[in-house]
Amino acid sequence: MDENKKAFGLKALDCAAAALRKNNFGAEVYPDGAAAAAALLALAGTGKKIGLGGSVTVSELGLPARLAAAGNEVITHAPGMPPEERRRVWLAALASDIYLASPQAVTSDGKLILVDGNGNRCAAVTWGPRRIILLAGVNKLARNQEEGLWRARNTAAIANNLRLKKDNPCVKAGRCLDCASPSRICNVATVLWKKPPVSDILVLLINEELGY
Ligand code: SF4
Repeated sequence: MDENKKAFGLKALDCAAAALRKNNFGAEVYPDGAAAAAALLALAGTGKKIGLGGSVTVSELGLPARLAAAGNEVITHAPGMPPEERRRVWLAALASDIYLASPQAVTSDGKLILVDGNGNRCAAVTWGPRRIILLAGVNKLARNQEEGLWRARNTAAIANNLRLKKDNPCVKAGRCLDCASPSRICNVATVLWKKPPVSDILVLLINEELGY
């Protein structure tokens, strides 16, 4: 990354971290994915149940395999899993020691935005797991809630439709058409305005483009 972009990214992430802390979330800033992954692995340790919320960021950092190699049980659904099995996995993830996911947007006033097709991830990041750790690359920063929700549908969702090989109207149009498609992937939005009191939520902000 260009040195000026790096410096600007760190400044923007520091501001977002301060805003998140004001909203009672834990927040830490890392210079790159490698540093964030090392910190996450140290936090997780070994022998934990780790729920995963289907995150490209988490995959890009190689965390599922690295957490399993460190002696943790990784709880995640797999493509083509039968519905009953998928339900069992999602319920088990709600009772995990640590739940990992990535929001589609982190706003400059410290809000976290997640949009889901099924809502399992939107549910798990509010309450259930003993600890929730959200990883967000610098590309996830948004000015405010409106821009964050726009980003979720007009940037993240289109890339996710392509990844999941779903032929929803946004893929052709290059923008969200608020479709009525049966394969629509934007059905549930969670906006964490402030940390729910009984939830333990830590956000790792990373000065690298990660995920969608
Ligand atoms: S067109 Fe449908 S699937 Fe695509 S981003 Fe909009 S609501 Fe989501």
